[in-house]
Amino acid sequence: MKLLENKVALITGASRGIGKEIAIELASHGANIAFTDLRQDEQAMSVESTLQKLGVKAKFYVSDASSYEDAQILIQNIVSDFNSIDILVNNAGITRDTLLLRMSEKDWDLVMNVNLKSVFNLTKAVQPIMLKQRSGSIINISSIVGIGGNAGQANYSASKAGIIGFTKSVAKEIGSRGIRCNAVAPGFIVTEMTNVLSEEVKEIWTKEIPLRRPGTPKDVAQTVLYLASELSSYLTGQVLRCDGGLQM
Ligand code: NAD
Repeated sequence: MKLLENKVALITGASRGIGKEIAIELASHGANIAFTDLRQDEQAMSVESTLQKLGVKAKFYVSDASSYEDAQILIQNIVSDFNSIDILVNNAGITRDTLLLRMSEKDWDLVMNVNLKSVFNLTKAVQPIMLKQRSGSIINISSIVGIGGNAGQANYSASKAGIIGFTKSVAKEIGSRGIRCNAVAPGFIVTEMTNVLSEEVKEIWTKEIPLRRPGTPKDVAQTVLYLASELSSYLTGQVLRCDGGLQM
């Protein structure tokens, strides 16, 4: 059964990693896909053609999620290309890990702008469209470190915790208009973002995971699919951990 036939989904930062897998998962359930990233490169174009081969409409847009202006222009362009936006997945995110002792103001500002301000930018821009439709599902990609904290990630953890507060507030503001807003908190997922971790750190994390394996982008994508679809019609303001039980 296809869960998202004729829906339009926007996913930020989807040229690779978790965002790419979310785009493929939603498209394989019939959703038309608008997706963004910082550059129009081979990766972006290959995702676009993969999605089109799944038989849906798919279009890539260059857009910096941390820019308020870019978000406004992006939403106008998507509405003129696709007519509506039913699902927004705020996925774009970065790390600039270091201990607070060494963390620069630049490291702080960049992570807050890309990870947290982006969620404000895109949600704000898409809100009028979803209000008019009186329906929509907004899914924000947080992290378990936004709940539990992590040494060396004060900036990243703060941005991901901020996303949770934002998600719950928006859920309360626009639930009465038929718009749901939830967050996914992935644990240790194998992508280019986590490739920078040493083998030793990866082994230690994996040993602590009750399901004894790191997560895959597909694990996260399926959680997003659930929140995007009517299967989760009575869920809003929730944070779903997708972490193999690492944090309970
Ligand atoms: P990734 O680095 O593989 O991919 C992130 C994508 O976002 C890249 O294509 C990048 O170019 C894009 N991007 C970066 N800044 C952007 C901007 N300003 N505007 C638009 N696009 C931008 O990372 P990933 O592991 O796939 O992570 C995706 C999301 O999942 C992030 O929000 C991340 O914080 C979150 N997350 C990841 C893990 C993990 O273990 N990998 C765990 C928890 C949460």
